[in-house]
Amino acid sequence: PFKQRLLVVANRLPVSAIRRGEESWSLEISAGGLVSALLGVKEFEARWIGWAGVNVPDEAGQKALTKALAEKRCIPVFLDEELVHQYYNGYCNNILWPLFHYLGLPQEDRLATTRSFQSQFAAYKKANQMFASVVNEHYEEGDVVWCHDYHLMFLPQCLKEYDSKMKVGWFLHTPFPSSEIHRTLPSRSELLRAVLAADLVGFHTYDYARHFVSACTRILGLEGTPEGVEDHGRLTRVAAFPIGIDSDRFIRALELPQVQEHIRELKERFSERKVMLGVDRLDMIKGIPQKLLAFEKFLEENAYWRDKVVLLQIAVPTRTDVAEYQKLTSQVHEIVGRINGRFGSLSAVPIHHLDRSLDFHALCALYAVTDVALVTSLRDGMNLVSYEFVACQDSKKGVLILSEFAGAAQSLGAGALLVNPWNITEVASSIGQALNMRADEREKRHDHNFYHVTTHTAQEWAETFVSELNDTVVEAQQRI
Ligand code: UDP
Repeated sequence: PFKQRLLVVANRLPVSAIRRGEESWSLEISAGGLVSALLGVKEFEARWIGWAGVNVPDEAGQKALTKALAEKRCIPVFLDEELVHQYYNGYCNNILWPLFHYLGLPQEDRLATTRSFQSQFAAYKKANQMFASVVNEHYEEGDVVWCHDYHLMFLPQCLKEYDSKMKVGWFLHTPFPSSEIHRTLPSRSELLRAVLAADLVGFHTYDYARHFVSACTRILGLEGTPEGVEDHGRLTRVAAFPIGIDSDRFIRALELPQVQEHIRELKERFSERKVMLGVDRLDMIKGIPQKLLAFEKFLEENAYWRDKVVLLQIAVPTRTDVAEYQKLTSQVHEIVGRINGRFGSLSAVPIHHLDRSLDFHALCALYAVTDVALVTSLRDGMNLVSYEFVACQDSKKGVLILSEFAGAAQSLGAGALLVNPWNITEVASSIGQALNMRADEREKRHDHNFYHVTTHTAQEWAETFVSELNDTVVEAQQRI
């Protein structure tokens, strides 16, 4: 049967490439949320376009990698080191990422950023142009092109310049901030206009969509309608499409013998204690110091719990070459050391902090044995860790403490204990409430969230977005 082709364009391809020789590459699939979402979509024939995460300066290497990637239905965009530095490290991660998460930069960084802004923005546009040209090379009439995230805000416009009939969707995986924040960006208007070239623009929550529409009305003076944004009769549809996870993958994993074995080990190891869990990239947006301070306050005020609870914090290293992230790492280590020094004994410490990632099965086991998960993001597009925890908790029925600033608060708010992560008094008292919660209340809250997580899957998310994009284009043609 005929399947519509779907070109998925994201900064990074879902594979990591390692060079083994002049013309030999080994590839490893990295199963992020987007990958598992689209693996489950059977309706479309998906192809991936993106950067492979490696610098390949020579033609022989590029050719060999292109060939190897083709077997995984991946098409590479080659970016040189200087461009990656300016576009990816610079404009994407140093400017857009903090801005979209409402994070201020230190004063000296802010001035330096202001000075290098124009060259980084030029690199951003150039990189987006390079993605567009690869898409255009592979595009066939009738294909759907789905652009992802803040790295590629220029892409919809570049693509429509090649072919105004191309079906183009763009989805943002981070928050979109208040228009008052977006206003401060020197390239505020150009970015909005470039995104508006898409047929459909999607966000995780209704709030982010509303912020985007407000930015377009206030900054560009366009008209916002319930459907989206209108410019001289042309509509860009704007809507919320909350992502989900492949919940079955987690539920099935819990049945595997090696995961069961792991669960047994963990249960035995922590048999005397309630287990609290944090799983985050070590990023400013995750509010890890705030989480630790709240836990410290809880131990301070609840002597009874000091030898009866343990916090396992998995802090996955990220952007480790950036000074600010290095500073955050030492800050976190200092707080962990202080708390363990204050409340630890010769035989046990209250916090186990790991600066590393875990493999999928180890992570599932950890989710399954947890009594209380603690998500304290200061801002977070969605936060899939909270979904994954819920998926793995059908026997334990543990409690989720969730920041109201994570997109997931919109969907898991009814079952979770929502907190303001800046208010450590509130978080500390929620920890107490979670640890003391009666089984019937835990069960009620868990069931609520479990139902949501298993019925709003990643696969459905992808199908809904693409079918909405197809419909939007049909409706637009009917309007003319
Ligand atoms: N994750 C992982 N290994 C780890 C810790 C986390 O693969 O050791 C995964 C986790 O399963 C989740 C993702 O990393 O799918 C984190 O996604 P989330 O939306 O919570 O935050 P992000 O890192 O995208 O900001």
